[in-house]
Amino acid sequence: MSTTIRNIAIIAHVDHGKTTLVDAMLRQAGTFRANEAVAERVMDSNDLERERGITILAKNTAIYYQDSKINIVDTPGHADFGGEVERALKMVDGVILLVDASEGPLPQTRYVLSKALEAKLQPILVINKIDRPDARPQEVLNEVYDLFIDLDATEDQLDFPVLYTNGKLGLASTEIGKPGADLQPLFETILSTIPPASGDADGELQILVTNLDYSDYLGRLAIARVFNGTLRTGDEVNISKRDGSLQKTRITKLFSFAGLKRVDIEATEIGDIVAVAGVEGITIGETITGIENPAPLPAIVIDEPTIAIQ
Ligand code: GDP
Repeated sequence: MSTTIRNIAIIAHVDHGKTTLVDAMLRQAGTFRANEAVAERVMDSNDLERERGITILAKNTAIYYQDSKINIVDTPGHADFGGEVERALKMVDGVILLVDASEGPLPQTRYVLSKALEAKLQPILVINKIDRPDARPQEVLNEVYDLFIDLDATEDQLDFPVLYTNGKLGLASTEIGKPGADLQPLFETILSTIPPASGDADGELQILVTNLDYSDYLGRLAIARVFNGTLRTGDEVNISKRDGSLQKTRITKLFSFAGLKRVDIEATEIGDIVAVAGVEGITIGETITGIENPAPLPAIVIDEPTIAIQ
């Protein structure tokens, strides 16, 4: 298959328009059939999140644009979920920094951006809500540059592309003061700025688990990024545990993401973000490895949330 995969996260302070923008991207990329309404808003569909107004669980959305698949990993914006931010950032090769054109960068923007810059990720700046009567995009751009400098961004990271968007109407432009006609400039910038997910499809299996989900009929699902190798349904694998031990298991089902949905696949594609069933004993930060020469990735350190999730 010639599809290239881009894995990105969107970093934003709450209410700066992350959900609205992803909805618009989904709609324009044609992920939804014409008669299928975007009934449920994707990135904050969890009731708990709605109540709290913060994004807690990292979720995945995949958008097809031309011959590329763009996986969008949600990142919690709140410092109380520090460990989750780092895990989400392990999945991606670049970030969209989304900033309200009136409010400018706020504490959550700063916190998650600092983690993304530390992780050496390439940012794209999106200044959103340019339609607001009190929008001040030029000043906000300057504030973002100041923030990058304050956070010790590298020269390359400072050289970020900038887009001006109206997420509500699904418009993006590379020029300040121009509304744009659609989100194509954003899709193009993602493809030209974020490196395609790479790895060796024939190499030793290395699939890093960064989140867990649960299915009533399949049990525990590991949400994971395929760094090397190819995993197939029915394969026997080793779970490389964080204590260094190995646990043999058989993969019962594999999914990748399309739009908001999980779709069955027979085999993984290199670099993709997948959901894996048949891995009851697995926990976050562990690697799914091969039987012959298991080569685990370094386990991710998990900070426990500092507030209780009920
Ligand atoms: P999130 O918390 O970052 O996911 O933010 P939402 O997508 O829920 O958006 C927060 C609010 O901003 C909602 O009321 C949106 O309708 C509004 N909003 C999002 N994008 C735009 C935009 O481009 N222009 C304007 N004027 N409002 C927007």
